[in-house]
Amino acid sequence: MKMKGYAMLGIGKTGWIEKDVPACGPLDAIVRPIAVSPCTSDIHTVWEGAIGERTDMILGHEAVGEIVEVGSLVKDLKVGEKVIVPAITPDWGSLEAQGGYSMHSGGMLSGWKFSNFKDGVFAEYFHVNEADANLARLPEGLDPAAAVMLSDMVPTGFHGAELADVQYGESVCVIGIGPVGLMAVAGAALKGAGRLFAVGSRPNCVEAAKAYGATDIINYREGDIVEQILEKTGGKGVDKVIIAGGDNDTFIQAVTMLKPGGRIGNVNYLGEGDFVRIPRAEWGCGMGHKTIAGGLMPGGRLRMERLAALLVNGRLDTSRLLTHRFQGFDHLEEALLLMKDKPKDLIKPVVIM
Ligand code: NDP
Ligand code: ZN
Repeated sequence: MKMKGYAMLGIGKTGWIEKDVPACGPLDAIVRPIAVSPCTSDIHTVWEGAIGERTDMILGHEAVGEIVEVGSLVKDLKVGEKVIVPAITPDWGSLEAQGGYSMHSGGMLSGWKFSNFKDGVFAEYFHVNEADANLARLPEGLDPAAAVMLSDMVPTGFHGAELADVQYGESVCVIGIGPVGLMAVAGAALKGAGRLFAVGSRPNCVEAAKAYGATDIINYREGDIVEQILEKTGGKGVDKVIIAGGDNDTFIQAVTMLKPGGRIGNVNYLGEGDFVRIPRAEWGCGMGHKTIAGGLMPGGRLRMERLAALLVNGRLDTSRLLTHRFQGFDHLEEALLLMKDKPKDLIKPVVIM
């Protein structure tokens, strides 16, 4: 049987293609999307060629869907159930997963399969490996559009707060307040940050950052962010930095604004360039106890279910991220191009099938 999908045809090129409906392995599921969202990572992948050449690969890794087929060894999930699909779907039996880094199962970043080295979710059907371990049931009453933010935006932003190891009362700076950075702000606030700086410029993102718990807004277009942070902290800097935007040189700013003993949690996807530079003196000549941690979001069912509990119990409202809603599969291209062009009023588009 054939299906339609929206694909990366090659670096810098996208379009509709036709492919066979994927086959279901014994542990796997085939899912029909209900709501999907394009990610800035799709933009790095297609237009920056960040992970190298890909030909006719269906894009997308953020979805809520309905199971249409399960393999013979799937014990729990059933056909017809609605599920949240994490962007990262590890191989749970791998040594990397056993070592605590499931997102790197099978090699660095290899837990990221959709729209990386297998077809993604912008299709009439898509394949999910290890269904019982990777899919989470969509809780009753949760809007699929709000829930699709659990695929990637919430787990990635929150991972920024985890990587930075935010503690009660600490001062935290989140650099970048697109949808990922906004979820980093929300995650840092839930983890107990005291003063919480948010760096961005688009007015709707700034408003959202305040709503998610930012206490101070820093506009990077209005002056050096390090100077602004140092001025607001009496020259001391912050305890933790979460990077969710900017470029390779953002690390220079992050290290400089960090107090000795501080931690940087990076979830930004560095799409270009060969090196990241660390400023020598500001890094304490190598002895400043300034730790840099960068990570791909963890996937898996347990984490998705826990994060979904935040929505169900009213601790987090993701609907605020959804500035553009489209109805119908055919709008996928429009939604993806919006993500590429980033108009001022955009935070995140969602396409309801
Ligand atoms: P957006 O492009 O929507 O947001 C980027 C943010 O960074 C905006 O707030 C922007 O400000 C700000 N920014 C841009 N340039 C600078 C600068 N020079 N200094 C400071 N801030 C700046 O991206 P997303 O939120 O969608 O995604 C963020 C990153 O996370 C992407 O690289 C994405 O690929 C990555 N990602 C990583 C994942 C992971 O698992 N690690 C998973 C998903 C995404 P402005 O207000 O002006 O727009
Ligand atoms: Zn993504």
